[in-house]
Amino acid sequence: MTTSTNTKPPIIWQNVILFTLLFAISCGVVPWYAYQYGIDAKHWVWLLITFSFCNLSITAGYHRLWSHKTYEAHSALKVIFALGGAFALQNSALHWSSDHRVHHKHVDNNDKDPYSAGRGFWFSHIGWMLREYATNQHIDYTNCRDLQKDKVVMWQHKYYLPLVLLTNIGIPLLLGIIYQDIWGMLLVVGVLRLCLSHHSTFFINSLAHVWGSQPYTTKNSARDNAVLAVFTFGEGYHNFHHIFENDYRNGVRWWQYDPTKWLIKSCSWVGLTTKLRSVSDLRIELAKAKAKLQYAQTRLSADPTQQEHSAKLAQEFERLTQTLNDYYQTQKQLLESKYDTVMKQYEHSLLQMKYTQLKQELKQQRRNWHLMTTRIA
Ligand SMILES: [Zn+2]
Ligand SMILES: [Zn+2]
Repeated sequence: MTTSTNTKPPIIWQNVILFTLLFAISCGVVPWYAYQYGIDAKHWVWLLITFSFCNLSITAGYHRLWSHKTYEAHSALKVIFALGGAFALQNSALHWSSDHRVHHKHVDNNDKDPYSAGRGFWFSHIGWMLREYATNQHIDYTNCRDLQKDKVVMWQHKYYLPLVLLTNIGIPLLLGIIYQDIWGMLLVVGVLRLCLSHHSTFFINSLAHVWGSQPYTTKNSARDNAVLAVFTFGEGYHNFHHIFENDYRNGVRWWQYDPTKWLIKSCSWVGLTTKLRSVSDLRIELAKAKAKLQYAQTRLSADPTQQEHSAKLAQEFERLTQTLNDYYQTQKQLLESKYDTVMKQYEHSLLQMKYTQLKQELKQQRRNWHLMTTRIA
């Protein structure tokens, strides 16, 4: 099915009714209930716990584990993610991953990307799920053959509907019985939690492709956005993610708010996750420098008198690339030399000197590069 046809595909009424009801109850009935009967700390605490459970199951499980294979997980953790994914009501992990792999492969291609941002905010946020846009596109899940060998994924796929009902009705009902407020828990932990969980995840397909910066690549519409990262458990660093999709981190700097990254990392300390994949600092810095070069050259290309400046910039980029390669290479050698018992003391000192020199050089070049590119941009 392509988008070039004028006749729109049939509406998926089940989804339209579901999303409308969730939104209407969350905005209308929940505040009314709060006013009439009161909503207190226990509701808010459980809302936060269940919301986090749903979203982390999507970000750490559906997204970074199953769609992108950025690490390996213990079966117990997979089961938790599979339950959380059903609780989040975002289709089975197999289906979700299949869609998501197509999104990465054909990002911004309006005919192939299932939630292409190029088709507008509404479409990428929720519109793509309201009509039969991709009926037979990847129903066979051929792009997820690896996941078809995963027992937990296939178990969740097979029992998806019972798991959805069990979690979405069972958990709020159980909490309602425990706290003797069945309606309150059904409304807050059942409906409001699901509505918030849906839209915060949907923002990654919509907002994270229009709002924010592009420090790593301009080849697609994905953006880095620290504000969005707060609501999406770290997925707001979407520009980084689209260039380095096999990295278990989205917020790559230690201070960037990415609870999904922290969860995956801390699980590795107790053996629940293994083989965490991350790209090298060199590749990250090179990508950033290249993106800056492209920004600056696009600006300069509009002015024919700036050709000389453009050539200088290209030269400086070459120099920076060379120093970066040398620096990270030497850093690696230095690290390895610590365990090298054959290496002589003076050889080690030479390596250390070379490293210190390159570090100084790089510091200066980074500063130059920053000044040259920001002046233009
Ligand atoms: Zn994306
Ligand atoms: Zn992704």
